[in-house]
Amino acid sequence: MQTPIIISNTKAYIQNLKEFFKLQNDIWINLEKENYKYCVAVPNSLISLISKEEYKGFTVGSQGFYALENGAHTGMESVENIIDAGAKFVILGHSEVRERGESSEQVAKKVEISLSKNLHTVLCVGERERFILDDKFDTNYIDELLIMLKNSLKNVNKNNISKLIIAYEPVWAIGTNTPATPDVVMQSVIVIRRELAKMFGMDSAKKIKILYGGSVDEENAKEYIKNATCDGVLVGRSSMNAKIFAKMINNIYEK
Ligand code: 13P
Repeated sequence: MQTPIIISNTKAYIQNLKEFFKLQNDIWINLEKENYKYCVAVPNSLISLISKEEYKGFTVGSQGFYALENGAHTGMESVENIIDAGAKFVILGHSEVRERGESSEQVAKKVEISLSKNLHTVLCVGERERFILDDKFDTNYIDELLIMLKNSLKNVNKNNISKLIIAYEPVWAIGTNTPATPDVVMQSVIVIRRELAKMFGMDSAKKIKILYGGSVDEENAKEYIKNATCDGVLVGRSSMNAKIFAKMINNIYEK
């Protein structure tokens, strides 16, 4: 089995370092095997504090950077800043950031910069709404999804995609307790991979990892990997509960 990519997106849930390490320790002691791996995306202010610690149960990453270059940008970090702090990956294009006004144009610039620095780059894409019909798939959402994908990747060169990861995160499933079903996710994964093949060629597209995110829990997580051809999951709320998140990781590895 390929190593699944399991990412906890802690958003702004965690107040301080003590709380963070208590959560990670509780996750760690509930894992069935020591070699079960996961990643945690934390606020930028915590990255250097966490990456300095001896504790190496997980890989630490960033939830984003805001300055497109180093210079006069008060209150922002550049990609160099987060790499220097110890981030091993970055999440870009998350819908919660897009909702605050970030355009696909800006996302595209960040993805280009991040990949050029050889940083693992998790690009989030997902439609705002989708109608789930009983026996046939709604296809209206595809244009929205593909435009977002193409626009966010428009500056990326085929030779620079080895660190690119796509996270399919439909907005309607995030924070709602309405996860997409595995067959709905599989349809989107196919649509995304076909577009990646058009952009970068089939051989390269096959290697790009695709994750699912949106109300992932300890029960459904393994289904996305087993039945929906996802390479992993991007998890919000369920990763804030140590027992639930550890059970999710155990289930995925034992799928
Ligand atoms: P929830 O798991 O809380 O729905 O959040 C998903 C998400 O936004 C991960 O990036």
